[in-house]
Amino acid sequence: MSKFLIALSLAVILLSVSSAFASVEVISLLDVQGEGNTGLLIGISDSQLKELLPDMKMKSQILAFLVKTPDENILFDTGLGDGHIIKRLSENGLRPEDIKTILLTHLHPDHFGGLVDADNKAAFPNADIYVNEVERAYWVNDIKNEAVINALNLYGDRVHVFNFGDEVISGIKALDASGHTPGHTVFDVNNEVLIVGDIMHFPEVQLKMPEVSVKYDVAPDKARESRIKILDYAADKNITIAGMHITPPGILKIKKAGQGYEKF
Ligand SMILES: [Zn+2]
Repeated sequence: MSKFLIALSLAVILLSVSSAFASVEVISLLDVQGEGNTGLLIGISDSQLKELLPDMKMKSQILAFLVKTPDENILFDTGLGDGHIIKRLSENGLRPEDIKTILLTHLHPDHFGGLVDADNKAAFPNADIYVNEVERAYWVNDIKNEAVINALNLYGDRVHVFNFGDEVISGIKALDASGHTPGHTVFDVNNEVLIVGDIMHFPEVQLKMPEVSVKYDVAPDKARESRIKILDYAADKNITIAGMHITPPGILKIKKAGQGYEKF
């Protein structure tokens, strides 16, 4: 074998180790959008807020994402239980029964609510659900949240748990983004896109000032630490991020700018 061929075969092996798919397609699914409440922000003064938002207005939105790999369609979060995500899927030619895999970033109602339909049945009858073990234990055993318990029970043994650092399914790794909730997970899809969940709620403020947390964060200091860690990772590696509360389509690339980040 010539030196060139040896080099080429090594390159192919390296590529196949670092990349489980040829490429992925991310589709944004908008649930709802409205006006955000600046009173939810923690760690920002009125004057800083006025500088960032001269009219003191910011948007608020809920999204889910569909990731298409060559093998399957994977749904990341499900929005509220209002049927909007099912409608968005049908606009993309998919019925609820076509979804076989759902990965959850965490167990707040705007993320798991869509698992349950209006008749209190599993909205995705053929889906396997993946959720962080710490997150599941927190809501089911510690908080004993009835809505979470009900939703997970509807899927029975099709609920699977994972831990931070696990390859949840082929090519998709669970990164520790805890703080917003105890098991809040960011998914690294094939080193191509990070599904960042609730790492940010109001990007108009939190991209420029990532130290700002929100009242929804169970542990605001830890949430801030995770936000900066994940956004640094995305900026350093030039990886696209997709976030459930980022201004639609909710998919962007960021770079470091000043004390924070900007999209480009
Ligand atoms: Zn949320």
